Amino acid sequence: MYEEMKPETQAIRIQTRRTAEMEHSTPLFLTSGFCYDAAEDMAAAFADDTLDVNIYSRFSNPNVDEFIRKISTLEGADDGIATGTGMAAIFATFMTFLSQGDHLISASAVFGSTHTILTKYLPKWGIQSTYFDMRKPETIMNLIQPNTRMLYLETPSNPGLDIIDLAFVGELCRSRGILFVVDNCFATPVNQQPIRFGADLVIHSATKWMDGQGRVLGGVVVGRKELIHQLYLFVRNTGPSLSPFNAWILSKSLETLHLRMEKHAANALELARALEKNPYLKMVKYPFLESHPQYEIAKKQMRDGGGIVVFELAGGIEQGRRFLNAMQMISMTNNLGDSRSIASHPASTTHSKLSETERQAVGITPGLIRISVGLEAVGDIINDIEQALEHSNYKD
Ligand SMILES: *Cc1c(COP(=O)(O)O)cnc(C)c1O
Repeated sequence: MYEEMKPETQAIRIQTRRTAEMEHSTPLFLTSGFCYDAAEDMAAAFADDTLDVNIYSRFSNPNVDEFIRKISTLEGADDGIATGTGMAAIFATFMTFLSQGDHLISASAVFGSTHTILTKYLPKWGIQSTYFDMRKPETIMNLIQPNTRMLYLETPSNPGLDIIDLAFVGELCRSRGILFVVDNCFATPVNQQPIRFGADLVIHSATKWMDGQGRVLGGVVVGRKELIHQLYLFVRNTGPSLSPFNAWILSKSLETLHLRMEKHAANALELARALEKNPYLKMVKYPFLESHPQYEIAKKQMRDGGGIVVFELAGGIEQGRRFLNAMQMISMTNNLGDSRSIASHPASTTHSKLSETERQAVGITPGLIRISVGLEAVGDIINDIEQALEHSNYKD
């Protein structure tokens, strides 16, 4: 019944079937196991792993299923699986679809722990990766090998906000029989649905904008039924499952995802426009600013620019530290996708272990500040950033 309705309605109305209590909101199903009326029913549940019946909460749970149904619908996917964190979703995807001897092509600018899996863990099982620059999608062609099985990327990327033409990469992967996997965390399905552009699997860290209040961890992968079934069997047997409590929170959070993402994006665009006029900054980047190098692509594949704004301080790494110390309201933390605005300085924190050259290669300049724009009144966000810019702009 909800299939023909708008996504914002679906995110509210898709719900676990009412129990005999006739509750309006979905209750918490904190149960590890599920019962049967007859031994034959129990035998049937185990005999066919495609049956839609709850056995044990590592396999499935009504709260987890509700969350999966909502997010699959929002992404335009057949089905999905949920995991305890975004990293578990990413790792499960690699483990399910890659085998010894396979080759993977990845954008060089991907989430830090994803990069660690690609460089430190997958090679232990004989899976090699090569990397391309998000700003040069045409170079992907030359990286394809006979054993290339998967192409992996994030758009917009973290923290450089590089954007790649999803339709271009989708068509390339389709014609070469390569599995196309997109981490859609920064955009959320409100702003971008990669499956429409040819992605086979879409991954999210639900910890970020989906929860939206920085309280629970979660991950999800969505895609075609036959692919998801393989992932389901991996998660069911190896156990990175999402807890029912976190799923309950995440499903509840999705009821306001559209409303929140519209406000995050409106605040972010207003902040970016204000910062463009600021004399202390060398650069301001936001997907929906006309000055963004891939603005046209962003407009084509995204509904709004999302909630992340980055800028470059003229005073480099030292001013980066001073800027964080000068903030009065905005939080100093490395998380993102929260109702509270957050600032981080990748060069001195998340990416401090990389060499200067490695940082440059993924677009992390010394004075780069990433703002996860929250839901506070935009004037208060702008004021705090402007005063911190003023107070950090001196030489030691
Ligand atoms: C945070 C994040 C992840 C990892 O998610 P966790 O829930 O922290 O495990 C993966 N990709 C991107 C783009 C992220 O921002």
